[in-house]
Formats: sequence, C-alpha cells, structure tokens
Amino acid sequence: MKQAIRYTIVPKDLAAHLYAVTVTVDVPGPQGQVLSLPAWIPGSYMIREFARHIVRIDAESAGRKIALTKQDKHSWQAAPCDTPLTVSYDVYAWDLSVRAAHLDQTHGFFNGTSVFLRVAGQDNLPCEVDLRNSDDPACATWRVATALPRLKAKRNGFGTYLAANYDELIDHPVETGDFALATFEAHGVPHDIVITGRVPNLDMARLCADLKKICEAQIALFEPKSKRAPMERYVFMTLAVGDGYGGLEHRASTALICNRADLPAKGQAALTDGYRMFLGLCSHEYFHTWNVKRIKPAAFAPYQLDAETYTPLLWLFEGFTSYYDDLMLLRAGLIDEAAYFSMLAKTVNGVLRGSGRSKQSVAESSFDAWVKYYRQDENAPNAIVSYYTKGSLVALAFDLTIRAETAGKKSLDDVMRALWVRYGRDFYTADGGRGVTEDDVEALFQEVSGVKMKRLFERWVRGTEDLPLAKLLAPFAVTLTDDRKEAKAALGVRAVRDGADCRLANVYQGGSAHRAGLSANDLLIAVDGLRVTAAGGATNLDVLMARYRVGDTVELHAFRRDELMRFVTKLTPDVAAKTVLTAESKPAAALKLRSGWLGKIDSQR
Ligand SMILES: [Zn+2]
Repeated sequence: MKQAIRYTIVPKDLAAHLYAVTVTVDVPGPQGQVLSLPAWIPGSYMIREFARHIVRIDAESAGRKIALTKQDKHSWQAAPCDTPLTVSYDVYAWDLSVRAAHLDQTHGFFNGTSVFLRVAGQDNLPCEVDLRNSDDPACATWRVATALPRLKAKRNGFGTYLAANYDELIDHPVETGDFALATFEAHGVPHDIVITGRVPNLDMARLCADLKKICEAQIALFEPKSKRAPMERYVFMTLAVGDGYGGLEHRASTALICNRADLPAKGQAALTDGYRMFLGLCSHEYFHTWNVKRIKPAAFAPYQLDAETYTPLLWLFEGFTSYYDDLMLLRAGLIDEAAYFSMLAKTVNGVLRGSGRSKQSVAESSFDAWVKYYRQDENAPNAIVSYYTKGSLVALAFDLTIRAETAGKKSLDDVMRALWVRYGRDFYTADGGRGVTEDDVEALFQEVSGVKMKRLFERWVRGTEDLPLAKLLAPFAVTLTDDRKEAKAALGVRAVRDGADCRLANVYQGGSAHRAGLSANDLLIAVDGLRVTAAGGATNLDVLMARYRVGDTVELHAFRRDELMRFVTKLTPDVAAKTVLTAESKPAAALKLRSGWLGKIDSQR
C-alpha cells in the first residue's frame, strides 16, 4: 500500500486516565525524525501545550531501542535510523472539555491534537489509525462515534480509519462509550447525534427533527440551487453533564458539552431557554462547517500549530457565525420573531455593558484573542470587547445596511455565498486551499453588495464607535429603544455569591463603586451598616440598594484580603442598557424588507 503514517490508540488504564498510543514512520528523516504535539487546537485560540500530558515515551526500530532527545516543550528528535521507526507513549486524558482528551470508566473522548504526534516533514502523508477497544470489562459495550473516514471495520466501529493528511487527522475528534445515537438526513446527507452521559427519558426524535431543520436551512443558505452539503456525513458529539456549556467546530463534526437539563425529555413540548440555547450552540458549530473550517483566514491556511497564529478576522469567523446561529433558528421556524428580538436585545445590552468597547475594536480583539479574550481577568469588561457579541452586531449592521441600500435585492447572505464560492467550496479539494485576507473581505463586500464599504469598515470593524442600530433597524419597521425609564441608583458592579459572602466580580469603570475606590474581588460586607450576604443563595445587594436614589451618599464596608476598609460614595445612575426591540406592523415596504431578512414574519404567519 501507499506510504502512510500509522497510529494505534487504545485505553490503557481507565482509572489512571491513560491512553497508549504508537506511531510508526516508514521512512524516518535521515537527520533523525522530529515528532511533536500541537501547542493549540484550531478553534480555540489559546496555547495549551498538549505535550505536557505525555507521561512516558520511547522509540524503537527493527527491534532496537532508539534514543529520543527532547528538543523543546512539545518536540522530540529520534536518533537517525534507516528502518521504520515506532514511537510509543502514554497520554494522560483527564480534561473534561471539548478541547482535549478524557478517559475513564464511563467513556473515552479525544481530539487528535492531544494524542497523535505529528511527524515533521511528513504532514502530507495519509494517516492510518487503528482504533482499539480495551479489554477492561467496563468497555465491553463501547462503540465509536467519529467523522473520520473508515477503512476496515471491526465490532462496534473499532478498526482502521484513514485521514488524507495530518490536518484532516486532527480535525475529527473521536468519542467511544455506551452512548445514545440517532441518525437523520439533511438534504440527503446522514447526520449522527451522539449523547454521552446519563440523560433519563431523552427525546432523540425531537432532537433529530429540530436539528434537521437547522441543518437544512444552513445548507440551503450556502447552496440555494444544489442544496449540497460540504461533507459526506456529519456527527454532533455531545457530552451531557450537570453543569457545562461549550462547543468546538470541525470540518464534519462538532464536539459539544451541555447541561443534561437542557436536553428535551419525552413528553415535554415546550421550548425551554436551556433547549433553545443548546439548539443555538448546535447551529453555531454547524455554521462553522462553512465559515472557518472551509472559508478561512489566510493565517489558518494552513494552521501553524506550534505557536500563536494571529488574525484580525475572528470578528468575521466567530462574530458572523454568532449572528447566523440564532437567525437560523428563526428562519428554520424553531423560534418566533419576538424571541429572536429579545435574544438580540440581550446581546446589545451585553456589548454596551463594558467600557472596553471604546478601547478595543473587533479587529484588535481578534488579533489579541490569544492573550486577552481567552485569558480574561476581572478587568476584562473595562479593557476588551468580544469579537463574538460585538462581531455579531457588526454582521447585523452590515446586513441591514446592504438590504436597505439595495431595496432588499442584496444582503449579507449574498456576501457569505460569494465567500463560500470563491474560498470555501474547493478548500479541501484544490491544491492547498486559499484563505482570505482583510483586504479580500472588504473588497468582496463592496463588490457583492455594490455598497461603499470603506467608511463602515473603518468605523465598525477597525474603529470603536457604537453601532447605530436604532437608525439601521428603522427601515425594517423595528423600533429600538433603551427602556431605562428612570435610572436607578447603582454601585456599577457585578456581584457574585462567594460562600455566604458577596464578592465583587467586576467593578465597572465610571460607576459609583469605582469612584469610591472599591476593587474587583473585594468582599462587600455592609451598606450603611447593614450586612450584605449571600446566605440565602443569591446576594441581597439589589434588595439593599433598591431603597436608595441617585445622588444619595452611602457608606460601604468591604474586606480586601483580610483588611477591613471603609468607603463613602455618592450614588450615580445605573448605566446598564435595557434595550427593547419592537416590531411595528407598517409600512408595507418595511415589512417586505423585514421578511426578506427574517424569513416569514409574524404578521404573515
Ligand atoms: Zn464559534
């Protein structure tokens, strides 16, 4: 057979959370083969140094032990040898997130970035993986879920899989366990939904029906004529836990973690907030199948996995995906217009909450994701803006502008389709695939929409001014108001429960607490001599503050470390926005624009 890099992986010790892995290189590099694990996983922009979880490693060739020399935090170099080289190692897998690997008696999950050593200089060779089950009795009923293409099947999906190259190998996470599984088709393509974790009375039929609508709406958005999905099959891999939320996108699957309470139970028809959030998460990760897994920033084509890889475009890849995730729930008929507008209002309020939005643009936030967005501290609201939430509002602002200026003939959908056709559709089939630069994006926006874009990019993408959403929504017969009728007195903090105490998680710059000298992480213990407590569950700070008016002076006591401190402040108005979006029922031309944007609108249902 054609030359390939061959891997084996098997659970070695469930209680110690160890996978045993081998990699065999038929033709090792003549100077001594270098092997390494990635420093980060695509989709999650933080250095994680996965190689620190390799707890044992050795190498052999033709029955001889081969010396391995550690080169840096994630690379090893084997002594030169001219027969096939096999490196064996154990990986500690005890990270319950979608980004790494996890193994115990209940299941095994891994991303290739955590377990498969990359063979330097041979990234483009096919990678063959022998997925083996453990003979531990706990694994007797385990089966496999993955979008990796299968070569030779054994029982329950164990056996040999084949990826075209290392990039593909690490883009198909693998779940093994005794999970719930259901399959549906979206425009002819099979989609598996896999749920690991105990979820009594789970309504898989409803999950399939709802996800099918979302997937078909997205496939039709990008390929309105052919309705062709970009993958041959797709897997939603979900771990249900008591308390968790997150997802990571891949080219033909997604790894998700959610609260089991958010998943639908048989006999429950209502769309709970939790289930709506889960569907929004699925919609988000699925949209990435096009936007970031195939339409990619130039910096990610190909990914540089040994260090930070900077791009100013995450506002497009995460922000626009965040715009479409909820919008597709509405267009697919899973939520109504009122629900959509209240979700939008919540996003607007969140963005307006932090003064960081006037210090950092979404382009800067994208570039600095590695050290700022992904490493947020207590000062984050005062220092940074989210390329997710503000990025989604930038998408909204562009969409509304293009629709209004072209009388509904063009929209952001056309821009996304043009990006898809030009950069995404052939990404994995053309030679190497080409990513987009900032200049490409701006030029393409202008070309597709015919609308002058330079000034809008300056102000909304590279600048920090607030988006004129009320003005942009008006032509769609949607009124945006800030419903702070009579601003209440507030400290300007986000307070959280800390045992029976109240801790200031954030102190917003410009608020009365900031002016008084209070700091994030102070334990606030009294307002005018009355105890602030969280003994009953939530803190009573709002109850205490409700008796005051703007301009009143209060005395505050707080512990900073173990030192009691006293502060006096004059209360200022609450600056938190309370945005409300109201759908009007005329004029007809505006309603037509609105239904082009949102799909069939309520007055037409
Ligand atoms: Zn995302």
